[in-house]
Amino acid sequence: MIQRAGIVGAGIAGIAAAIRLANKGYQVDVYEANSYPGGKLSQITYQGYRFDAGPSLFTLPKLVEELFMLSGEQVQDHFEYIQLPVNCHYFYEDGTFLKAYADRHDFLREISQKTSEDPETVNAALDSSANIYETLSDLFMKRSLHRWQTFMNPKALRAYGKLHRLDFFRTMHQANKQRFTDERVVQLFNRYATYNGSNPYETPATMNIIPHLEFNIGAYFPTKGMYSITQSLVELAKRLGVTFHFGAKVEEISTHEQGVQGIKVNGAIQPYALVVSNMDVVNTYRKLLSYVKPPTRLLTQPKSSSALIFYWGVEQTFEQLDLHNIFFSRNYQQEFEHIFQKKSIYHDPTVYVNITSKYKPDDAPPDCENWFTMINVPNNSGQDWDQLIDQARQAIIDKVSRNLGVDLSDKIVCEDILDPRTIESRTSSSQGALYGNSSNNRYAAFLRHANFSRKIKGLYFCGGSVHPGGGIPLSLLSAKIAVDQIPAVA
Ligand SMILES: Cc1cc2nc3c(=O)[nH]c(=O)nc-3n(C[C@H](O)[C@H](O)[C@H](O)COP(=O)(O)OP(=O)(O)OC[C@H]3O[C@@H](n4cnc5c(N)ncnc54)[C@H](O)[C@@H]3O)c2cc1C
Repeated sequence: MIQRAGIVGAGIAGIAAAIRLANKGYQVDVYEANSYPGGKLSQITYQGYRFDAGPSLFTLPKLVEELFMLSGEQVQDHFEYIQLPVNCHYFYEDGTFLKAYADRHDFLREISQKTSEDPETVNAALDSSANIYETLSDLFMKRSLHRWQTFMNPKALRAYGKLHRLDFFRTMHQANKQRFTDERVVQLFNRYATYNGSNPYETPATMNIIPHLEFNIGAYFPTKGMYSITQSLVELAKRLGVTFHFGAKVEEISTHEQGVQGIKVNGAIQPYALVVSNMDVVNTYRKLLSYVKPPTRLLTQPKSSSALIFYWGVEQTFEQLDLHNIFFSRNYQQEFEHIFQKKSIYHDPTVYVNITSKYKPDDAPPDCENWFTMINVPNNSGQDWDQLIDQARQAIIDKVSRNLGVDLSDKIVCEDILDPRTIESRTSSSQGALYGNSSNNRYAAFLRHANFSRKIKGLYFCGGSVHPGGGIPLSLLSAKIAVDQIPAVA
């Protein structure tokens, strides 16, 4: 018997859920409000430049590969990526320039040459990051936290013996400050809190798991750009028979006797006994399930930070810059106080510049570069964004110009902007947050929505706003956890 599944949203998790459900024998329809797939993981092109619109750092590529393997295909026939030799170029206002080499030995040498830190301390920090990952990943990232089986299996029982290693009770900053003596190294390691939109001065030191992904497993670049992750998975889904409906905004998930009955699109109900929502969970309840009592405590958890991005066509090439570049703020603590407490933008923000034309030259015209220039900003709570954007634009230009010894304002030939309001309106992300809930307290992992509904049979959730969290790898895992709960078609 044909069994149909409807998916709300073609974000990366929605696409991954479609692939997994098709592999389980379902006939899958994906409804996407935009005219293109990918949600945050999309691209923009203009005046000879191409930019990945959102994510720029690719980690855990095996999670993408897994989808091809599951479908009986060879990943290299459809999707190519390379490991970066250098993870990031770091610029500090005191003039320090540091390359975060992917090779541990080279990175430790760089640390000993450019900072006063003992490289052995950095070596130990990276080992400790690996330990946290080994202990936590199976328990918290790859399984539902909302099934008792997760906590009562041999792997979980082994992990309980190592829980003391997880550093739940200090903040990331406290741990890094106690470990390192050089402030620049503290700042470099504190930066990893931003990988899930959190505050290093609040998030538990357990988040020191994140450097492991970049330094020990590796940072990667898809040779056709980040958007090729979306494109190659959409093509894979289509080969499996998945149908995508673009410009199809779902208006309601309809239910009957505590079970899913269908979804309403363009005024008509499409019947489905199985629906997976990849729409932000807050808005799924607010807009698609407005007649259901929402799980208010979970939905009102503080959201992660958002971002302000200037997509700049730059008429010059810069040898000092690489694919990923960071120009650090002089005062990181003040910067995060502005983002999370004052809900504003610090006058000296840390600037991230991503230049894909370094690895994919056709992303910019000859002798030019495509600068994805981003700062972390608060999520949207009705700030005067136009004014904040004007001020931030000038601060960024001044900062980068100062660090590179150029007048950047002369070099910018075209510009597009993405801010928390447009992130919210283009992806339905609550408050324009990049990663759903923030991880600014030690219970955050337990306060994300499950990947299934206990009240409505046949309703499942995936994406960065539910368990296990935001970012491409966790969003892909959310799709796996959701579909793992669903039986294959007999
Ligand atoms: C600027 C930026 C930088 C980032 N940097 C990184 C990074 O470097 N590395 C990393 O791993 N992650 C990064 N992230 C986070 C990452 O992009 C997200 O966590 C991930 O892409 C979320 O995927 P998702 O599946 O949850 O869906 P989303 O991308 O949020 O997509 C949801 C989709 O659902 C659609 N939708 C919503 N409502 C409806 C409806 N009613 N009907 C139909 N369709 C609907 C939306 O249009 C959208 O396409 C970044 C995000 C941003 C914005």
